[in-house]
Amino acid sequence: MEIKHWQAWRVTIVMLVLLISIYLSGCQPVTPTKATVSVLGTTGSVQTPEVGSEEKEIPHSLETPQVPVPEQRVEPVPEQGVEPIPEQGTEQGTEQIPEQAAEPIPEQKTVPIPEPKVEPVPQVVAPTPSVPVDESDNNPTPTPTPDPSQTPIHPYYDLSGTPPSAPGLAMRVRVFNAEPQKIAYLTFDDGPYPQTTPRILKILQDEGIKATFFLVGRQVEMYPALLKAEYEQGEGIGNHSYSHNNQLVYRSPEAFLAEIKQTEELIFKAIGIRPKIVRAPGGTQGHFHVNYYNAIDAADYLVYDWNVSSGDADAALVPADQLVRNIETQVPGKERMIILMHDAGAKTTTVDALPRIIQYLKQQGYAFGVITPKVAPILFPGGFHS
Ligand SMILES: [Zn+2]
Repeated sequence: MEIKHWQAWRVTIVMLVLLISIYLSGCQPVTPTKATVSVLGTTGSVQTPEVGSEEKEIPHSLETPQVPVPEQRVEPVPEQGVEPIPEQGTEQGTEQIPEQAAEPIPEQKTVPIPEPKVEPVPQVVAPTPSVPVDESDNNPTPTPTPDPSQTPIHPYYDLSGTPPSAPGLAMRVRVFNAEPQKIAYLTFDDGPYPQTTPRILKILQDEGIKATFFLVGRQVEMYPALLKAEYEQGEGIGNHSYSHNNQLVYRSPEAFLAEIKQTEELIFKAIGIRPKIVRAPGGTQGHFHVNYYNAIDAADYLVYDWNVSSGDADAALVPADQLVRNIETQVPGKERMIILMHDAGAKTTTVDALPRIIQYLKQQGYAFGVITPKVAPILFPGGFHS
């Protein structure tokens, strides 16, 4: 009976220990359990499965941290794989590509394009002005060369001595005498002639006026006494060529001057003077060109056309009445006149009309003058265009 009682007591003690240990494990699970284990070292064979169960819980607890390990491994792997690929792809792809595409392209386009544009533009502008500058420099060179079309034509000597001007014409400045406001210069060409010259001289003497004779050398050669009579009466003496043959006189300015010189010598032999006033046979118009004017001026001659014609050369013999009417129709409006008439053997009507012409001019208030180099010439404007 004692052994059963001890065994029952021993079971109750174990039960109590278990109950206490369970209670304590609820408040302080780790330390009390080990204390209890160490206390129960001798009877630990029965508790070994409990310890082993506890030991099994430890590696189980160690296995649980293995879950976050793969979580960490999985997370960084996809993060590194996903993030760097899209980041590098997007950043390097989008940023680098657009940067390289946008930056270098506009930089290369903007930088190199404006540079060559700016540089060649001033270079092009610079040579272009240099070219017109050279042209402007070259222009003044041809500009001084006279433009004949723009050379003013001044066909008459004016009373102040301003010489005629025309393309290529360069005549000397003259000094002319003052004249009455209304003056007429009667001129007789082609003499002298025995049939007409004495009659004309008689009329001039009777009227108390003077006239001018433009003499032909051939006639002077035959009738030097008539020339001397004219000169001694105080009439003007001029040169009208030697042959009065247009084909000879107007071969050239030199030929013209040669005939003038030939007649001049005949006049000088007759009366000892060398007239400087010249009338071109038929007038300058249609016969002279600019070289004739220059040649005559260079030899110190003056050439005189006319602005009133008696018309006695319009036909073999023009009636005296017609000659008078010709003068009367041309005089009005003129203050300064050089009147053309002829001293020729066949022009008898001119002598017949002369007294009436002189009367008419006197009635109109004209004075009568003698042509000298101090009288401003009257020239046909058309003569400069021949
Ligand atoms: Zn003549």
